[in-house]
Amino acid sequence: MKKNKKDILLVALGGNALIRKGQQGTVKEQFENLKLPIGQIANLSKKYRIIITHGNGPQVGDLLLQQECCNAAPRLPLEILVAQTQGQIGYMIESTLDSELMSLGINSHQRIVSLLSYVVVDENDPAFKDPTKPIGPVFTEEEAEKLPYPVKKTAKGYRRVVVSPRPVTIVVKREIKKLINMDFIVICCGGGGIPVIRDGRRFNGVDAVIDKDLASAVLAKEVGADIFIIASDVSGAALNYGTENQEFLRHLTITEAQKYLEQGHFPKGSMRPKIEAAIQVMEKKGKRAVICSIEDIEKAVSGNAGTEIIHN
Ligand code: ADP
Ligand code: MG
Repeated sequence: MKKNKKDILLVALGGNALIRKGQQGTVKEQFENLKLPIGQIANLSKKYRIIITHGNGPQVGDLLLQQECCNAAPRLPLEILVAQTQGQIGYMIESTLDSELMSLGINSHQRIVSLLSYVVVDENDPAFKDPTKPIGPVFTEEEAEKLPYPVKKTAKGYRRVVVSPRPVTIVVKREIKKLINMDFIVICCGGGGIPVIRDGRRFNGVDAVIDKDLASAVLAKEVGADIFIIASDVSGAALNYGTENQEFLRHLTITEAQKYLEQGHFPKGSMRPKIEAAIQVMEKKGKRAVICSIEDIEKAVSGNAGTEIIHN
């Protein structure tokens, strides 16, 4: 096979970015919100081999709530709900991408595939004892007090939290690499991937949700991505976020990023995993890692938006 020389661009799309502030998160709203990031990715596919990963925080939390509203059918564990979100969001991204490619007139040579992706986690991960990952809708303090499951205060408000072990390896990494080399745009690792632990020769699913930024960093390292874009609902990472001293950062060295992490500027379950993911990729031969808003994907790729983590 001819060697594919195009750089590899991995875009991690935020699950929260698919539901805008104040929206309920209907399917219509999510389809509408996808047009902007996906239109840009379609355009970028002229120059790059493309991998799209995506989050599922709000969507998987909604599915869990729907389970709890119904006693007529057996409840499904979280790993099955993560698999369902790979299907539902994968379908929304894939069909939007198809129309955007068509409107650019480049659909004839770009093929798209959504892959169910398992991600291995360590059964002894201490994260299994401490739920940190926010999922589902935002509650007020009064509503949150009455909820029967763990809830934490986040920058968005009170949200349900579930355990979120670290990703160790992406089971389908070789297939992903082969597909992008054949010019497929690959949608994978949805919702951080279906979390599994190894049991001899088989994989068993576990009741958890992996953070998609950390899973995307593992994938970026395993396939050798050149550019890693983490596209969310904020324009980048800020110091003193949400206070009057808030200061968005444009460039951040690995050492500075580590210092600000230690100082607590980036909370667990939201900005922290993005910063950690970007650091990991830059430490492992990544050329560029940028955290930006879904509006600014093309600008971030050309170095004109977002928070870029750079070498010291
Ligand atoms: P996604 O679904 O894109 O992963 P998250 O909610 O997990 O979205 O992370 C993005 C959110 O992180 C922002 O909407 C913001 O509320 C929050 N956040 C917390 N700390 C910071 C910070 N220091 N800088 C920017 N955003 C922050
Ligand atoms: Mg997130």
